[in-house]
Amino acid sequence: MCGIIGYLGPGDGISLSLRGLERLEYRGYDSAGLAAWQKGKIVCQKTKGQVKILRQKILSLPESKSHLVIAHNRWATHGEPSKINAHPQSDCSRKIFLVHNGVIENYQSLKKWLKERGHSFFSQTDTEVIAHLIEENYQGNLLEAVQKTLPLLSGAYGLAVISESEPERLVVAKKGSPLVIGVCQKGEYIVASDPVAIIEHTRKIIYLDDEEIGVLSPQGVRITNSSNSLVKKEAQSVEWDLAKIEKEGFPHFMLKEIFKQPETIKNALRGRVNKKQGKVKLGGLKDWLSFIANCPRAVFLACGTSWHAGLIGKYYFENLVGLPANAEYASEFRYSQQPIDPQVAYFVISQSGETADTLASLRKIKKHGGHVFGLINVVGSTIAREADAGVYIHAGPEIGVASTKAFTSQVTLLSILALSLVQEKKLWPLSEMKKSLIALEQIPQQVEEVLKNAKRIKSLAKKYYQFQNALYLGREYNFPVALEGALKLKEISYIHAEGYPAAEIKHGPIALIDQNMPTFVVATNPDDLVYQKVITNIEEIKARGGNILAVANSGDKVIENLANQVILVPQTLDFLSPIINIIPWQLWSYYVAVQRGCDVDKPRNLAKSVTVE
Ligand code: GLU
Repeated sequence: MCGIIGYLGPGDGISLSLRGLERLEYRGYDSAGLAAWQKGKIVCQKTKGQVKILRQKILSLPESKSHLVIAHNRWATHGEPSKINAHPQSDCSRKIFLVHNGVIENYQSLKKWLKERGHSFFSQTDTEVIAHLIEENYQGNLLEAVQKTLPLLSGAYGLAVISESEPERLVVAKKGSPLVIGVCQKGEYIVASDPVAIIEHTRKIIYLDDEEIGVLSPQGVRITNSSNSLVKKEAQSVEWDLAKIEKEGFPHFMLKEIFKQPETIKNALRGRVNKKQGKVKLGGLKDWLSFIANCPRAVFLACGTSWHAGLIGKYYFENLVGLPANAEYASEFRYSQQPIDPQVAYFVISQSGETADTLASLRKIKKHGGHVFGLINVVGSTIAREADAGVYIHAGPEIGVASTKAFTSQVTLLSILALSLVQEKKLWPLSEMKKSLIALEQIPQQVEEVLKNAKRIKSLAKKYYQFQNALYLGREYNFPVALEGALKLKEISYIHAEGYPAAEIKHGPIALIDQNMPTFVVATNPDDLVYQKVITNIEEIKARGGNILAVANSGDKVIENLANQVILVPQTLDFLSPIINIIPWQLWSYYVAVQRGCDVDKPRNLAKSVTVE
């Protein structure tokens, strides 16, 4: 969370940093700030609220340009969102300024010690201790002061630091939070939490690893590790298309990303599915396929939406491959006493590849000799680099805080993974495999058809947006769809919603049903074993005066007669249905949130890639 940007070079770092902060707003937007070297001094402007307010404030700086700048979008962990708590934070002398992404866990004891030594604190942030520690260690060399400070910190940080006395230096460091360096030309560099803020200026990116420190100066980039040895790092070329991070005419990134799903699902399938031969291929996992196929158990680890995808993965492994599997919250797993088994296949799923709890789980597994495989979107991210092997979902940059296209791509990839194991274990006749691959290849077209319902979903939202609580139901493969539908609604419209396996309502939630508590149900695939059971649940809700909005297959007269409103979607094989069935709930949440006047791309209290615990 939070977005860092910094600039050193001959150009104008202020306008570049403001632009960069706007690109990073998905990571945090409760406050923003910028510090710049101007006329022999570091000047600093901060504000509560979004970057657009900071833009106005910057106009009052002595000059409009600067060659050395650091800037930050905050997502508060310690101290309320306010001007004083916004970054950059600085020391007592106001000569050292820094921006920080992460959490300093031992800040209280450090603060006490620093206060005893006479330091005065201005903010409630954990971050401020870093500035005072650097001040304490500063003897004319910023790099050395940072080097002495970092071992005193426990927790996570991505840092960019400047000093008034060293106008030609920008020092950056990383441990547990992402930080990359964009190389424009010799002597011109941009640092950021995410390449998204850099790629309109350069495609050449250096990825810092944990415990590395970079010093940027007109002479070049110098990177050292925690034992102060020089690390040689090549810049990698990032191939992202700039149009992919613009809104392209859509009012919100979320809506654009929902509408891009036919294309992103195609990207997830590309080169991996050959329906004519009835074969699937996952290059990134080919050396490990036999290990996974023969392991006694698999575990999917993830957070939020990715965890819902992992839960679908569990059903895939158990139902299609006959392989026992669990989906666990990475935040729980990282502290659990569960022994790590080197024979188990552990999968970590993360859009950003930086999710703090998922990364910590990966490291725990590797430390104890286990094998971890990644399903990641962001190429070159920390999880992607540290996993034993893995596959990219190729969804392109996801900026909307509420994840949409990453979810459908993750599920698509998980279905291919399960089919690869079916193939490896020779479980199905070729005809059955071909049937699944034909269905899989039809998904993008079917998603396109669901998107044509957007107008109708919008008009339903206009009619029914005033409710305070909601229940989402589904079974088997569509139970995670119910969870994900409820999460989408909570995230962007702040309506309380809960997802349940449909049959569970009798064990509690049915007590909530009345005419004010709508129930949203997925009831597709009428030939399915669980379909009839879901119909019974719908009857039970109707009998208690509840209103039903159902996602059902075209031509399903039973549901049309039962539910108050139906959104029709094309039918596919049951195990692929979550990829199609989630689309109406994504659109529904979007339009309900817009109708309620919510800021869809910047939902309150949330940020995109959760790089803090
Ligand atoms: N812990 C710091 C703060 O609350 C940084 C939070 C972040 O990563 O956005 O100011």
